[in-house]
Amino acid sequence: MDSSVRKRLEQDLKAAVGRLRQMGATVAVEDLPGAIGDNSPFADEVDVIQANEGREIGFATRELLVGRVNRLSAALDRLAEGEYGTCVECSEPISPARLHALPEVETCVRCQDQLERFGRQRDADEVEVEAVSDDE
Ligand SMILES: [Zn+2]
Repeated sequence: MDSSVRKRLEQDLKAAVGRLRQMGATVAVEDLPGAIGDNSPFADEVDVIQANEGREIGFATRELLVGRVNRLSAALDRLAEGEYGTCVECSEPISPARLHALPEVETCVRCQDQLERFGRQRDADEVEVEAVSDDE
């Protein structure tokens, strides 16, 4: 199971990073997990994504993509550590159907529901979006 899950996560991550690039996003992906090391086939693409600003970019869309890149990276990290498929909140197994639908999820349905209810954003701060600035 692990190798096919890993393949899917890597494909999804690559697609999300590629889309960010196409959108002209200036995004520094910091703190990437060890799963995406130098020996990874797409290390270059994940490294630092730079493109020209000034294009009309749907900020919300970009935020979603950045969040997804972050979650996929984290999922690969957990996969490497043998923790993939386990809820990070309650340590219960996440249902296979849920993992199949959303391979990057890190919480079970119940914990996800609670997180949304309390408005916690686990991954809001893990990826820096440099384009946001009030200094100008
Ligand atoms: Zn849970």
